[in-house]
Parts: sequence; C-alpha cells; structure tokens
Amino acid sequence: TARKRFGQNFLTDDNIINRIVGAISPDNDHIMVEIGPGLAALTEPVAESIDKLTVVELDRDLVERLKQHPVLKDKLEIHQGDALQFDFSQLLQPGKKLKVFGNLPYNISTPLMFHLFEYAEHIATMHFMLQKEVVLRLSATPGSKAYGRLTVMAQYYCQVIPVLEVPPESFTPPPKVDSAVVRLLPYEQPPYPCDDIKQLQHVTSTAFNMRRKTLRNNLKGLFSDEEFTQLDIDASLRPEQISVAQYVALANLLTSKNA
Ligand code: SAM
Repeated sequence: TARKRFGQNFLTDDNIINRIVGAISPDNDHIMVEIGPGLAALTEPVAESIDKLTVVELDRDLVERLKQHPVLKDKLEIHQGDALQFDFSQLLQPGKKLKVFGNLPYNISTPLMFHLFEYAEHIATMHFMLQKEVVLRLSATPGSKAYGRLTVMAQYYCQVIPVLEVPPESFTPPPKVDSAVVRLLPYEQPPYPCDDIKQLQHVTSTAFNMRRKTLRNNLKGLFSDEEFTQLDIDASLRPEQISVAQYVALANLLTSKNA
C-alpha cells in the first residue's frame, strides 16, 4: 500500500509509461539515475535497454523489494536515502554526464530541482513527472501569472520543455492534482552567466516576495532608482514582468557592489 508521507502515487498506465521512457531515451553513454523508483513502473522499462541504472529511494521496504527483483537486481545500483541530501557528484565518471529522471514525490519536487540545479553542469537531461501547475511555473514566460522565482531559477540553468500531461487516473492511488512531464535541458553555458548564484537566489526571492508590489518597492533595500536606470530596468514594473537576463543583471550588480 502506498505511503502518503512519501508522496507515493504509482504509475499504472502503460501508454503513459512508454511515452515517458521514450522521452527519457535511456542509453549507456550517460549515467542513468532515477529518483524514487517505487514499484519500478519506470525502472523496469528503462533498465531493459541499458546495462546499469542507479536509483535513489527513501522507503526501506521498497528498497528491499528492488533488491529481490528477479530481473532488475543485477542492473541496479541502489542508494537508500533522501534524494534531497544525496550527493550526485559521487556518481560521476570521466567523460559522462547524468540523465536524471523520476516520477517525483510532489511534496519535495521544488527543493529537489533546486538541489539538482547545483549539479547542472554534469547533467545532460532531466525528465520529471510533476504537478501540472509546477510544469506551468517552470515553463512560464515573463508577464504571466505562473512566472516566479522557480521560473527564473529553472530557466537560468535549463531549457524547459513540457512533454505531456497526465491525468490522475494514470496513477494508483490517483493524486488530487493533474500532472505533467517536463524535460529540463541544462545549458552547457548559461546564456546570461551569473557571477554568484546565491545573489540570483537572493534577488529573485526578494523580488517575488510581494507579487503585487513594484520592483522598486520589493527591492528598495538592494537597489537605488539610479541603478535600475543604469541596467535599463523599469522599476515600476511588477516582479513577473522582467526577464531572466534582467534578473541576472541585477544579481551581478549586487555581486559587484558587495565585492
Ligand atoms: N517511480 C514510481 C512510479 O512512477 O510508479 C514511484 C513514484 S512515487 C510518486 C514517488 C517515489 O519517491 C516513491 O517510491 C517514494 O517512496 C519515493 N520518495 C519519496 N520521498 C523521497 C525522497 N526524499 N528521496 C528519494 N525517494 C523518495
């Protein structure tokens, strides 16, 4: 039976599973990593075409089942533990990047993506099942309601491509929300390089603190009107109205001021 606190909603729809595995496109040239394999709905079809698959699963009972699995047990490298705490750099091999995927526990999906962004330069692709609303936030454009801190951080690191929508009936038990699969492709070089990512996190969380306020008001402790003008940013706009590049410019100005 599924454990609610572990965010367990197991995929049971073969058509959806096939489409997700197709999107992941498993291969031996990458280090394949699954987060939260659960009852192996994705694990089995992914492992079929490759030599080795690394999985990170928190639930000890599910880990025991995976260890006994007749087909999978020789292919899996199993790490029991919290993916939020997992050091993904321990999986790296010279000349290989990671392909990370998972039907994520929705309660930790945002912090988990932030954790993975720290390894972005070592990741070729990420495919995640998420709440549909989170996929809308990841892929939002400036000016839209869904555009926020998660959008800016995700699009700083990655090209974001929604892949498919998945209804609750595709899972057992069905989640209370609609779901969607997203593809995140980390840039080799972010198009607008940030000098200090901590400052980008600081600027975005401060800017989006009060969505109905202007940039000037939200950021008044950080930037003067002259500095907004210097960067050619209209301080009377709302936080959702400026681009990722403009957020990076603000962060870089903050870094240079603190230097
Ligand atoms: N991949 C399976 C599927 O698609 O049917 C299971 C998906 S279920 C939504 C989420 C899985 O993540 C569960 O197996 C759960 O035990 C596991 N999990 C929950 N929290 C986790 C964490 N912090 N770190 C690693 N795995 C976690």
